[in-house]
Amino acid sequence: MAKLNLDRIEMPRQDPKKRAGNFNEVALGYDAEMAREEASRCIKCKKRPCVDGCPVNIDIPEFIQAINVGDMPAAVKIIKKDNSLPGVCGRVCPQEIQCEEQCTLNKKKAPVAIGRLERYIADWERANKDKLGKASPPVKRKNGRVAVIGAGPAGLTAASDLAMIGYQVTIFEALHAAGGVLVYGIPEFRLPKDIVKAEVDYVVSLGVEIIYDIVIGKTITIDELLESGYDAVFIGSGAGLPIFMGIPGENLNGVYSANEFLTRINLMKAYAFPEYDTPVTEGKKIAVIGGGNVAMDAARCALRLGADEVNIIYRRSEVEMPARHEEAENAAEEGVKFRILSGMVAIIGDEQDWVQAVKCVRMELGEPDAGGRRRPIPVAESEFLIEADTVIVALGTTPNPLVPETTKGLEINKKQIVITDKETGKTSKKFVWAGGDVSTGSATIISAMGAARIAAKSIDSYLKEIG
Ligand code: FAD
Ligand code: SF4
Repeated sequence: MAKLNLDRIEMPRQDPKKRAGNFNEVALGYDAEMAREEASRCIKCKKRPCVDGCPVNIDIPEFIQAINVGDMPAAVKIIKKDNSLPGVCGRVCPQEIQCEEQCTLNKKKAPVAIGRLERYIADWERANKDKLGKASPPVKRKNGRVAVIGAGPAGLTAASDLAMIGYQVTIFEALHAAGGVLVYGIPEFRLPKDIVKAEVDYVVSLGVEIIYDIVIGKTITIDELLESGYDAVFIGSGAGLPIFMGIPGENLNGVYSANEFLTRINLMKAYAFPEYDTPVTEGKKIAVIGGGNVAMDAARCALRLGADEVNIIYRRSEVEMPARHEEAENAAEEGVKFRILSGMVAIIGDEQDWVQAVKCVRMELGEPDAGGRRRPIPVAESEFLIEADTVIVALGTTPNPLVPETTKGLEINKKQIVITDKETGKTSKKFVWAGGDVSTGSATIISAMGAARIAAKSIDSYLKEIG
């Protein structure tokens, strides 16, 4: 038996000093030799725990084995059967808490780098697409028209699953580009836009129609879609409404929600102003509030825009930080400073109402809260100031109430989340399903895709029933 290789093959990355000054991708991907070597680490476990750890159940050992024997077209086919967005997922899925966490080698030392191999295959496919030919939509069309709201990971997944079965699917997207958070939230240096575009093009090649600049609830309602002949509607409108803290100073000039800040940079290309006509802050001292992926992205964008100092202000410790470990590490390497155990109290302005500083209080950790994380408790008389001319609030988002407010019979909870049956994705309204952030609150790409797959299956059963 061959000796088990416990160390994974490292993926090359741009040098931290250099990359902090550009928007090019940080992680550079495996070459063919690295991919083959990493693939050879997989021991093809009979029980396939990695597959159970993947919310869309990709046949992981099979695609890795295809890489191992050099059959890349087969690897593409195996992945794409279950995932239309492998270039996206291979780059930004939190594999460390999903497939890779379950990998048998994780118990010994380092799990197989499943995400990096998935990325390798997606990139190989893009580079070789002329040899592979076009994905063809199913020859046999089925009766049934489905309207999908939103072209984020949830909407694209529901649409591609249903199109692959043969249904006629139309996505209605509020923005002028498809991808949801993948295009307006996650920056180019983590997820290049041409990768997202290539994967959206693949979904379209399956026969899915995308109609842009249509806001459901404003341009047209769900009831009107159903009246106009759609048999089923899938809501994948995400959770794009920012949460603020309600502290003094939040209305000062120079305070952004992370969503606005990132949308200006990513979707509207504000980093190339005035070539593109959306400006963004040219702040030099930036305070980012929060400890998730969104906070890391905002902080790293601010650095790349030329800030001298970027502070992430987080009220718990590194252990409780919800961001991917890899991204927090990248941010630190690039020069972002972490002010942990620091709670925000107020934002201080100058006479012209521009941000001047943030007032914080030192925190210590108490007992775990309902979510299992230790609760931060303010330390008496420990307030301190951090100089800042720009504040970016990255404390999470909730679903926009527009769709529920304009859809009679669609139930939501008090956090604006659309209530669904988790086994089927069905909502309280007949003919309407939902999945992704709109039905969970902000979560992950792959969980949105997993929920969309469940809903697509249920929609298929319903459409079969009505014939
Ligand atoms: P979205 O991606 O939000 O897509 C919803 C789509 O619906 C959008 O295109 C929106 O324009 C459209 N829409 C909304 N309302 C309407 C309407 N009324 N009519 C028509 N269209 C509408 N997850 C990870 O797994 N890894 C990461 O590294 C990661 N990083 C992140 C970084 C940032 C900055 C952010 C904001 C999130 C990040 N996430 C990450 C979370 C992840 O992106 C989301 O969980 C995921 O995108 C949810 O997918 P969705 O399809 O439900 O919603
Ligand atoms: Fe390979 Fe890890 Fe999956 Fe086992 S658990 S089949 S080693 S990837």
